[in-house]
Amino acid sequence: MNLSQELRGANTIAISGHIRPDGDCVGSCMAAALYLRKTMPQARVDVFLEEFGESLRSHIPGTETICHSFETDVASYDVFLVLDTGADRLGEAKPIFDAAKKTVNIDHHVTNTGSGTVNFIDPAASSTCELVCETLDRERLDREIAQALYVGMVTDTGVFKYSNTSPKTMRIAGELMGYGFDFSSLIDEVFYEKTYVQSQILGRALLESILFMDGRCIFSVIDKKTMEFYQASPGDMDGIVSQLFLTKGVCCAIFLYQLDPLTYKVSLRSDGTVDVAAVARFYGGGGHVRAAGFTASGTHHDIVNNLSESIEMQMEKNGN
Ligand code: 5GP
Ligand code: MN
Repeated sequence: MNLSQELRGANTIAISGHIRPDGDCVGSCMAAALYLRKTMPQARVDVFLEEFGESLRSHIPGTETICHSFETDVASYDVFLVLDTGADRLGEAKPIFDAAKKTVNIDHHVTNTGSGTVNFIDPAASSTCELVCETLDRERLDREIAQALYVGMVTDTGVFKYSNTSPKTMRIAGELMGYGFDFSSLIDEVFYEKTYVQSQILGRALLESILFMDGRCIFSVIDKKTMEFYQASPGDMDGIVSQLFLTKGVCCAIFLYQLDPLTYKVSLRSDGTVDVAAVARFYGGGGHVRAAGFTASGTHHDIVNNLSESIEMQMEKNGN
């Protein structure tokens, strides 16, 4: 796909990604917006996203132009670009998507079957940023666009460590590095650095974690009361499930945090012996084989009991 060709002639373009946006979502949306504002200066390009954390805000160029209100005076955009999700997790941007004349969907989630008039879905890609980069005319990139794309690649690959990292990922990342931004402090501040609150809540989650299935699974939950005590937001929960997963012997990690009295956000990580995308899809969510999630209703006991059955079934299916 060539983004400029797909959007040729458009005068109004809306861009959005998933609810509770992460680095790949914000990075891909802003990289596309910066590129289109530069290469199609006559077009109006609006980005709609929910609020996100300070480290993404300060390291992804142009985030001050993002609309967080989902209000617009455009009745029907010529093109709506959906990044890092299908239409299912657009949240409040969904009515704007529904009203658009043409929709373009770029994503790397294996569970995305394509929500656009035109789709570029490749589950083999490390990140949506890697895919977006492939749709851009490389000679029109600049330092700001490169940095936005790099943030998404860093966050979705765990700093080029997860198995979704390919030689192509590294080649693209190398090309982006060539634009000369400070990648070292970017990686520290976007991926490794934690606020005091984030460290405290991570500590709580680790301390209260429970091993089960002979040490092959680990589980932890943070309730709303605890989140309120630490004044933690959903974004502060990022990284907890990955840390749980690093426990020796564990092949599947489950992390829940409470959204409402009987609603939890569920995050799953696996070493590949369990297809957590299949598990998450069963509960109405999605993701990748080794990293997936969904939103569940019930008590956390019920959710984990049901999940362990699904995980055990997946393990048996895969001969483990
Ligand atoms: P996380 O656990 O970090 O929130 O998400 C892990 C992966 O699963 C990410 O690629 C994310 O986009 C995907 N994911 C998480 N929650 C959901 C969900 O509710 N629905 C879908 N379709 N994907 C999700
Ligand atoms: Mn992504």
